[in-house]
Amino acid sequence: MATPCIITVAITGSVPQKSDNPAVPITIAEQVESTHAAFEAGATLAHCHVRMEDGKPTSDPERFGRLLDGLRKHCPGMIVQLSTGGRSGNGRERGGMLPLKPDMASLSTGSCNFPTRVYENAPDLVNWLAEEMIRHDVKPEVEAFDLSMIFKAVEMQKNGLMKGPIHVQFVMGVKNAMPVDRAAFEFFVATLKRLAPDATWTGAGIGRDQLTLNRWALELGGHCRTGLEDNVRWDKTTLAPSNAALVKRVAELCGEYGRRAATVTEARKLLSLPAAAQ
Ligand code: ZN
Repeated sequence: MATPCIITVAITGSVPQKSDNPAVPITIAEQVESTHAAFEAGATLAHCHVRMEDGKPTSDPERFGRLLDGLRKHCPGMIVQLSTGGRSGNGRERGGMLPLKPDMASLSTGSCNFPTRVYENAPDLVNWLAEEMIRHDVKPEVEAFDLSMIFKAVEMQKNGLMKGPIHVQFVMGVKNAMPVDRAAFEFFVATLKRLAPDATWTGAGIGRDQLTLNRWALELGGHCRTGLEDNVRWDKTTLAPSNAALVKRVAELCGEYGRRAATVTEARKLLSLPAAAQ
């Protein structure tokens, strides 16, 4: 039987505002409500950033803690992944929430250009974040914005800085980073399989190619990510109605590739995470 697909919903991110799409959840209450609807629609992993009341990104551990509590209560068993991304804080501030012990946290293993700035992940910060994740038993999701970041993750696993099997997300479509390119995508998948045969992976398309990456990932046996963080539009002319609608679209797409959305139990097993507390 084909591997069930883990659908990640990236609910908020650090960039989109209500003015881009009113469905972007900003407050903790909105985030819990939006994630819950996405969970009911088939998402089993929530990728989360937190914002201040004015919509500004923050890495405040207290806010992350309240979000985590809300999600654990309202979305039982759902895998919660907190972002250590660079827009929400400086240096080690980005990992200040790891003692909260979320199931997962994102970890970029290198630097690259973003639309208007450098996405800076210096080697000593990457190593520190990885050590903190091991210390607090948090599984990293490697955010691979280019090929070198895949090699770096495998090296870190060999050196004991990351527990295996590793989970990697290939991110394509960020302006000035890796474009959405089929041959490069296939090479990413083949390279990860060669270097870390037991690794799992997700494809994430940013912007208008969100659905392209959903299709490619389903076709090549990977997992999918969707959500308003990556794309606030439904198509060329309309805004996405909600995170749940984007998730439902991917869940329905699974059938075209002989796949189906994973259950929480299956998603946890696929990512070698402990079963959810009862
Ligand atoms: Zn993110």
